[in-house]
Amino acid sequence: MRLSNPKLTRIENRTTMSKTFVKNDAGFVCVHCGCVVPPLLTTSRDHCPRCLYSLHVDINPGDRANDCHGELVPIGIEQNSKKGLIIKYHCDLCGAYHNNKAAPDDDYDTILELSANPLTYLYPRKH
Ligand SMILES: [Zn+2]
Ligand SMILES: [Zn+2]
Repeated sequence: MRLSNPKLTRIENRTTMSKTFVKNDAGFVCVHCGCVVPPLLTTSRDHCPRCLYSLHVDINPGDRANDCHGELVPIGIEQNSKKGLIIKYHCDLCGAYHNNKAAPDDDYDTILELSANPLTYLYPRKH
């Protein structure tokens, strides 16, 4: 018998409403590149390992508390001494900036390409 978990129910309701990612326990389909993404068992999967696109659904990592649901466009790679590789994102819909940790099975060529050709015109202005 499965016990119902109110938090899981809430997440399922929210993600069915999303037009871009279909997300469930078995991973999700990336609508940006059509890649079927298996669940990442060690940590919460928050972006597509092939094209690196993500969805603006979190306020804090994994909480799915953001109603924006815009596409998070990967705009650059940063090396963080504590967290490792960080993917920098810009939300296509609301214009917010977001960082995600790169996952171990991310496509390394895509990461290298983004690292060599960051979309600096989308970076937040510092001054
Ligand atoms: Zn993708
Ligand atoms: Zn957004």
